[in-house]
Amino acid sequence: MIINISELVNRYRSSKTFEFDLKPEELSDEHLKVLTPINVKGSVKLVNDELIIDIQTKFSAELNCSRCTSKFIDDYRFEFTEALELKDNQENINEHLDLTELIRDNILINMPTKPMCSQDCKGLCPVCGINKNTNDCNCESEQFDPRLSVLSNLLNEDE
Ligand SMILES: [Zn+2]
Ligand SMILES: [Zn+2]
Repeated sequence: MIINISELVNRYRSSKTFEFDLKPEELSDEHLKVLTPINVKGSVKLVNDELIIDIQTKFSAELNCSRCTSKFIDDYRFEFTEALELKDNQENINEHLDLTELIRDNILINMPTKPMCSQDCKGLCPVCGINKNTNDCNCESEQFDPRLSVLSNLLNEDE
């Protein structure tokens, strides 16, 4: 999304607010599936020779749980501030500011690296690979239990 900042660059005004929606496909890639338009609200302020950009983003996305690998949908909200230097050379000043790249970078940095479908996700059974949130398996009873080995040693001594 490109916003016109000519009034700021030419110093007619010192701030400007904006609100727009980015299309989900402008952010989605193989790691991130955005399901709703990305709502963007923010402001640009001219402070001395810098543009201070404040942005809030809001959207829903589908991620894969890092424990049980199932897909889950959650809402995400991020806020960030970016400062861009306004160069002295007037010819180099771009009166149009493209925010899409800035927003995309910030969201990708802030997305959880180990997303979880819920705080108490039980994950997959390390033995049979079953999803323990939705299924039960009998693998635990077959795992090594030190109490049982003491018992079997005692039984062996009795022989
Ligand atoms: Zn999970
Ligand atoms: Zn199992």
